Amino acid sequence: MSAIKYSIVIPVYNEEEVIHTTYHRLTEVMKSTGEAYELLFVNDGSHDKTADILIQYSQQDSSVMLLDFARNFGHQIAITAGMDYAKGDVVVVIDADLQDPPELILQMIDKWKQGYDVVYAKRTKRKGESYFKKHTAAMFYRLLRSMTDIEIPLDTGDFRLLDRKVCDQMKLLQEKNRFVRGLVSWVGFKQIALEYERDERAAGESKYPLKKMLKLSLDGLTSFSYKPLKLATYTGVALSFIGFVYLIIVLYLKLFTDNTIAGWSSLIVIQLLFSGFTLVILGMIGEYIGRIYDEAKNRPLYIVRKTYKQQPIRKFAHRE
Ligand code: UDP
Ligand code: MG
Repeated sequence: MSAIKYSIVIPVYNEEEVIHTTYHRLTEVMKSTGEAYELLFVNDGSHDKTADILIQYSQQDSSVMLLDFARNFGHQIAITAGMDYAKGDVVVVIDADLQDPPELILQMIDKWKQGYDVVYAKRTKRKGESYFKKHTAAMFYRLLRSMTDIEIPLDTGDFRLLDRKVCDQMKLLQEKNRFVRGLVSWVGFKQIALEYERDERAAGESKYPLKKMLKLSLDGLTSFSYKPLKLATYTGVALSFIGFVYLIIVLYLKLFTDNTIAGWSSLIVIQLLFSGFTLVILGMIGEYIGRIYDEAKNRPLYIVRKTYKQQPIRKFAHRE
């Protein structure tokens, strides 16, 4: 058997409606390369028929491998597991819902042949996604950029090609709350963007509800920036300064004038503002401490229930 050249990592969570089409389109594209490839599906604890369908494919097609997680660990962890198990000289991560067109993989491979180590797909348009999702995502990427020191490309998801050496470096980064696209930027090497228009989901619904989007953005921010923590310090200094000026004014009024200040409403406003602010800062510190706690527990990132892969056919049959 020839060594695997291309590994395609596909995280899947309840994708029974689209998985057949995805398998066929990916197979068509990868066959056209004429090289040995593997389709490495990571089933992230689906409750529907996704796993059964993929087990079948893994029995029929020796290019298919399935990692079946013991439960839902999340998209970023599923990608990480795929990278850990991938054997190819090149690893491509792609969503299962065909929002990322498989045909673009060929262009990525061209760039790789020109000597690039990371080819990431940058979205120029996002079709069929809600106004809310598009705009919050765009804002998030810009906020993240303003807060971090490393260059994390704008409007870029996890659809990308990695050279074997980049993938090997990624495996050394064992942090628990992962923002994979940030980690790839952090690793460095020769990176290039490939622009594309993001299609609609071919079937089914988004598996990224608001809660998961928030978790992902907080992981991105906290893993790559301390600035939110510093916000407390800066605001504290500014408020102390204002407080000091106000103190002088109050003292002046008290000592040199007869004005008695009836200030109930202003007191309430100040009280509400500051206690709100204090809670926000405490929450922010909590986000960091929770993540430090995760690191301290040092649990494995994921648990694989079973892997499915056809055994390679032996070259020599047993003698009777
Ligand atoms: N996914 C996953 N685990 C999850 C959520 C999503 O493996 O907990 C997979 C999903 O099957 C898909 C990819 O991650 O292949 C991206 O998810 P989705 O398309 O739902 O996200 P969106 O494009 O809506 O942001
Ligand atoms: Mg999608």
